[in-house]
Amino acid sequence: MKKIITRFPPSPSGYLHIGGARTALFNWLYAKKTKGKFVLRIEDTDAARSTKESVDAILESLKWLGMDWDEGPYFQSERSGIHNEYIEKLVDCGHAYYCSCTQQEVDAMRKKAKANGQKPMYNGKCRNLGLKKADHTVVRLKTPDTGVTVVEDVVKGNTAFQNAQMDDFIIQRSNGSAMYNLAVVIDDLTMGINTIIRGDDHLINTPKQMMIYQALGADMPIFGHVPMVLGSDKSRLSKRHGAMSVGEYRKMGFLPDAMINYLVRLGWSHGDQEFFQRDDLIKKFDLEHLGRSASMFDTDKLLALNSKHIQKKSPSELADHLLYHLKELGIEAQNDAFTCGIIETLQPRAKTLVEMAEAAAFYYKETIEYDEKAANKFFTADSIEVLKQSASGINTIEAYTQENLETLFKQIMKNTGLKFGKIAQPLRVAVTGTTVSPGIFEMLLALGKGKTIQRLEAAVNFYMK
Ligand code: GLU
Repeated sequence: MKKIITRFPPSPSGYLHIGGARTALFNWLYAKKTKGKFVLRIEDTDAARSTKESVDAILESLKWLGMDWDEGPYFQSERSGIHNEYIEKLVDCGHAYYCSCTQQEVDAMRKKAKANGQKPMYNGKCRNLGLKKADHTVVRLKTPDTGVTVVEDVVKGNTAFQNAQMDDFIIQRSNGSAMYNLAVVIDDLTMGINTIIRGDDHLINTPKQMMIYQALGADMPIFGHVPMVLGSDKSRLSKRHGAMSVGEYRKMGFLPDAMINYLVRLGWSHGDQEFFQRDDLIKKFDLEHLGRSASMFDTDKLLALNSKHIQKKSPSELADHLLYHLKELGIEAQNDAFTCGIIETLQPRAKTLVEMAEAAAFYYKETIEYDEKAANKFFTADSIEVLKQSASGINTIEAYTQENLETLFKQIMKNTGLKFGKIAQPLRVAVTGTTVSPGIFEMLLALGKGKTIQRLEAAVNFYMK
């Protein structure tokens, strides 16, 4: 079987958005699954709209999602030599021709066709004139006058386009630059692309592209056009539905694996399975189960998947992602035992990494700022005694374990005559600055012996001042 070669050809006029990431994913998965190749090509011929920032953002998002490419990035703008070579070939073999009609002439042809109840089109005037290349000439493809061009689509099934409805379209402008459809076909052809999965907004281009393949006598790639992603109101997903770019989802605290899992389900299914790990997905992905109907973007579903992926990861795997969010909060942390211990306490509940980072922040602080109300209420003569005894008690504990902490606190309860609740709250304020925190034992253990003693002593000093 021949090697599957897929591609992702974004136009760099913005960030990588949800729809684009999903298309990239389908192509990437299919290449991975078949041990084929995934090619990245930047379609930057529209110089006015393409930016370097956008290229960088797209590459960064793809890397973050873990979609590695085997070839590229190629830049379409650097390939005009190849495009023109093929245009000349098409002219030489009689499948394309130079046309000298002015815009006014073409407009008049269109008007006339319309007046006769036909589709407004170029009428083929220069088709058989054998014109030579000149300053103002464009190149047009000789398209078939009769019959149909059938797009055999692995997602949508067959769609037939009447050839009579297609005029001899331009493949090269008078300034010598290739038209979009020509550039796409030549790039795909010369890069060996044989499987093209893309949004169905491109279906309109496909018959034209097929005619170029046919004119070149080249093998037709497999096409699959996937329906657009919709927003909650069933209109095409756009900025007004909320975050659109992959980068924004990263900032919001989603894991790349959760994004991948969510994106693939926007248009592909495997029975009623919802949760997929990356490797499982590579094994199971196929083109047969790409759906024909549009899917709706649902942030709650994405959140639910995110928390599930958070729960399934090891603390150390999560730490790699959490560090980015801690940094956003101004915290320089490491992927070490301290961070992993903290993650373990937060993993069961966190829906996003932002939530997790916020909940983790107090562990890393050098000095704790106390919530005024909490400090007034819970730092009293009695409770400061508790904090003192806890600090010195913990200091003498050899193994810093929950069991030993429990024994110590029982002893302190006995010494002071206070109930556990009266002990736990001041401890909590001393250690976190507030009255809300994870369970007291898991928190103290995650914080570690040294830092716990330090914070208890700091609270005592604060009270004494
Ligand atoms: N550059 C096009 C886009 O970003 C993709 C073209 C294609 O997939 O053929 O929409």
